[in-house]
Amino acid sequence: MEYFRRWGLEDKIYAATINTEDPYYIIFTTRLGANELLRFRSPSIREIRDRDPEALARFRELGWSPYGKTQIGQQALEPILVEHARALPNIDLRHGWRFDGFTQDEAGVTATLTEIVSGRSESVRTQYLAACDGGASDVRRSLGVRFNGRGKMRANVSLLFRSAEFLKVHGRGVANLYFTFAPDCFGVFTAIDGAELWNYQYYFIDPAKAAAPLNAEEVLHRAVGKPFAFELLQTTHWNHHQSVARKWRDGRVFLLGDAAHLFVPTGGVGMNTGIGDACDLGWKLDAVLSGWGGDILLDSYERERKPIAVRNSIASASNSIASIW
Ligand SMILES: Cc1cc2nc3c(=O)[nH]c(=O)nc-3n(C[C@H](O)[C@H](O)[C@H](O)COP(=O)(O)OP(=O)(O)OC[C@H]3O[C@@H](n4cnc5c(N)ncnc54)[C@H](O)[C@@H]3O)c2cc1C
Repeated sequence: MEYFRRWGLEDKIYAATINTEDPYYIIFTTRLGANELLRFRSPSIREIRDRDPEALARFRELGWSPYGKTQIGQQALEPILVEHARALPNIDLRHGWRFDGFTQDEAGVTATLTEIVSGRSESVRTQYLAACDGGASDVRRSLGVRFNGRGKMRANVSLLFRSAEFLKVHGRGVANLYFTFAPDCFGVFTAIDGAELWNYQYYFIDPAKAAAPLNAEEVLHRAVGKPFAFELLQTTHWNHHQSVARKWRDGRVFLLGDAAHLFVPTGGVGMNTGIGDACDLGWKLDAVLSGWGGDILLDSYERERKPIAVRNSIASASNSIASIW
C-alpha cells in the first residue's frame, strides 16, 4: 500500500477492496457451520483511515504505516495496475504476446516475442531484462538458476465458487479468512469480493489423495457442514513451495516476484514481496539509465531483496507447518 500510494492508487484500491467498514476477521472453526474455535479481529479500513485511538493502541504497526491489512483479490487489483501502466507514456504493454527467449551480450539483451493471434514474431533490443514470468519462469530455467529451500510442500486444490447462500448458511458474518480444521476438511475459505465470490483451498493431509478424482460438492459441503447451492468457477490443483532462487541477477537479466521465490500462502506475502522486488529494482534501473547509478547499485538488488524473500518464505512455511501440530 505504501508503494501504491506513491503512484496515487490508494483510493482506487480502497474502493475495490472487499470491504472498508467491517473489521478484518480471521476465523478458525472445526467446520464453518459447526464450532468456532477462535477469531482474530484487526481494524477495518475505516478505523485505520480515521486513526481510531483504540486501533492505534492495539496494533503497533499502525504507528509505522498509515496502512493495516488491506484485502483485495488479484482480479480486482490487476485491472487497476494495468490501467495505471497504460497511462504511462514510456510503457509499451503487450497483452496477447508470448516471450519466446532471449540472448544477452555486453551491450544489452535481445528478446524474441510472438503475437499469439497472428503468429507474427518480433525482436526487441533492450539494455536490461526484468523477468516477472512467474513460478515456472522460462527465464530462470534458461539461466540454469536453481532454488534453495524446502521446495515442494503440501498438495492442495483451490475451488473458486459463486454462492449467494454461503454467508447465510454458515451465519458467521463476513470474514476475510475462515479456516476449517476438522480432519476431513482441513483448509481455508478466502473472501474474494466479500459477497458472493469465495475460494476454498482444501489441503490434502495425505498427499497420495491429491491425484484422486475430486467431488467439489462433497468437499465444500463437508467444510461448511451443511449443503448449500454454488456455482463452481474454477478448480486448480497446486502445491505449496518454500523456494528462493539461488541467484537473482545474471549479467543484464534479473529475476523478480514468483520467478525468484515461491511461498506458502499462509502469510499473504507472496505478491507483496514481488511488488517490493519490482519497486527496488525499478528505481535502481532508473538510476542507472538516468546516468547517476552504477552497476554496483544493480548488484544491491539481490543483496537487499533475497534475504527478505528467505525470511518471508520461511515465516509463511512455518505458519503452515504450525497449523498441523
Ligand atoms: C491461493 C493463493 C493465495 C495467495 N494469497 C496471497 C496473499 O494473500 N498475498 C500475497 O501477497 N500473495 C498471495 N499469493 C501469491 C501471489 O498470487 C503471487 O506471489 C503473485 O501472483 C506472483 O506474481 P508474479 O507477477 O511474480 O507471477 P504471476 O502472477 O505468476 O505472473 C506471471 C505472468 O507471466 C506470464 N508469463 C509467463 N511466461 C510467459 C511467456 N513466456 N510469455 C508471456 N507471458 C508469460 C504468465 O502468464 C503470468 O501472467 C497467493 C497465491 C495463491 C496461489
